[in-house]
Formats: sequence, C-alpha cells, structure tokens
Amino acid sequence: MKKTITIEIDCCDVESCGREVSARYPCMNCGVVHCHNCRKTQGVVYNHRIYGCGTGDAYYCNACDALLRKQGADVLHNAYTSLGKIRKEIDEFVISMEQRASIVEDVIKKLNYAREGGKENEHDNNN
Ligand SMILES: [Zn+2]
Ligand SMILES: [Zn+2]
Repeated sequence: MKKTITIEIDCCDVESCGREVSARYPCMNCGVVHCHNCRKTQGVVYNHRIYGCGTGDAYYCNACDALLRKQGADVLHNAYTSLGKIRKEIDEFVISMEQRASIVEDVIKKLNYAREGGKENEHDNNN
C-alpha cells in the first residue's frame, strides 16, 4: 500500500537560500528562521553566559538587532547585549594587562641582566 503524506519542514527564510533547517533557532523578536550558514551573515548570536554558550543563547536577525539596539526598550535583548559588552571589556582588559605585564617583564629582564654585571657583555667583549 502506498500512502501520500504531507510533512512540514522548516526552511531558511532567506529568499536566495530556502534550504531545510535542521535545528530551529528563530529570531527571538520576529521569528524569522535562518539556516546555519545564513545565521553567520543575517543575524547575531548572543551567548547566555560570559564563559559559555549553548541552550539559552539568543539569536536576533540583523534588522531586529539594529532596531532593538536603537529602541533600547527590550529588557532581554538589553541583557544579552550587556553581557556581550562585558565580555568585550574583559577581553580588552586582559590584552591591556598583558601589554603592561610584558613592559614590566622587559624591565625586570634588563635590570637583572645589568645586576649580574652584564656578564654576557664582558664575555662578548673578550671574544
Ligand atoms: Zn528578527
Ligand atoms: Zn539559509
């Protein structure tokens, strides 16, 4: 016996794409669905934890992300973007501290070298 069945599949809402979407992560504001590939260019993913991602992450299409940023009234979107900002600040802080540390490390290296009477220098001079 043959049966014809109708199945419903989720497809990417990007017109030029339209491929089937396996995991469904719609825009949390307008509900538009993007496939894995289109998500990279058509929207923004926000992690739900400062050091972690997965269930609880947010996805907003570019249009909604821009709109919500401009309006600044969506409490959840604001929280996600705040977390993103904090993450960025942590990264910048770490880089700046590493630069400062590297300058001091250089000073210590040079001072210790001088403290040891520049032995290697004498050695070099003897040659
Ligand atoms: Zn949207
Ligand atoms: Zn797509």
